[in-house]
Amino acid sequence: KGSWLSRLKKGLSRTGQSLGGLFVGVKVDESLFEELETALIMADAGVEATGKLLTALRARVRKERLEDAGQVKAALRDILADHLAPLEKTFPLGKATPLVVMIAGVNGAGKTTSIGKLANHFQAQGAKVLLAAGDTFRAAAREQLVEWGARNNVAVIAQDGGDPAAVAFDAVNAGRAREAGVVMIDTAGRLPTQLHLMEELKKIKRVIGKADDAAPHEVLLVIDGNTGQNAIAQIRAFDAALNLTGLVVTKLDGTAKGGTLAAVAAGSQGVRPVPVYWIGVGESLHDLQPFVAKEFAAALLG
Ligand code: GDP
Repeated sequence: KGSWLSRLKKGLSRTGQSLGGLFVGVKVDESLFEELETALIMADAGVEATGKLLTALRARVRKERLEDAGQVKAALRDILADHLAPLEKTFPLGKATPLVVMIAGVNGAGKTTSIGKLANHFQAQGAKVLLAAGDTFRAAAREQLVEWGARNNVAVIAQDGGDPAAVAFDAVNAGRAREAGVVMIDTAGRLPTQLHLMEELKKIKRVIGKADDAAPHEVLLVIDGNTGQNAIAQIRAFDAALNLTGLVVTKLDGTAKGGTLAAVAAGSQGVRPVPVYWIGVGESLHDLQPFVAKEFAAALLG
């Protein structure tokens, strides 16, 4: 099956023309730069990041007089790693007890799966975990979370229908009473049409703050790594409503859109470069890894 890094690499090199492949058996000339530009745009790096990366690469090639395509590839890997480095951030487990984590994202992004993976990860770190099924609109979402809880031996606060903010409020209090290390609150990704998702999420956040002044300590957005440029719009919208503290980017084991994070780092289309705590690289419990800029850059260049 291969390591997660090789899966990431395989996924990210699934562009029409793999980025790394461009350097094989070619001369270092203008057409290489042109092909790189096309490939970065195709991988959804966006115009800002693509321009910035290639300007830096051209300067490096000139300054260091690089004549070998392999050297140019290594230079791009370093430049990309530096570009992505500001997105790297360690999750502050233990900063508060319980650490209250609100988790948002559109349906299908991988929210429930990521919560399950995180529950497993935090438990392995020795933290007692409590989950809250804040998507009271979809019974299936609640059931899926309860299932993840059972699999991980983690308690889940859930309620049939009702007010998601009330579930979140109860969960924070229960987390305190049960001396949990982490309380993760799932939220709806889509609502029955007459309601406004962002207003609902803002309300949940506000009500969490009523149970604990400092909470939520973390507000995470889960995005599907296949979303491409639309991910930028999602981050902007959720950030405007919730003031995000971090991202979880899923499905990077099967995407050709890995350049999106370069766009985020570049502040493309006015997006705030929200840090990436974790990346999802598969469907199983252990397929969640901290985001490391250097590893990601190496995988993207396959
Ligand atoms: P939610 O609606 O946001 O809660 O999304 P789910 O957690 O139900 O995930 C939607 C689908 O994406 C499921 O089939 C998951 O197994 C799948 N999925 C989630 N994360 C990953 C990942 O990192 N890699 C892959 N390949 N699939 C994932």
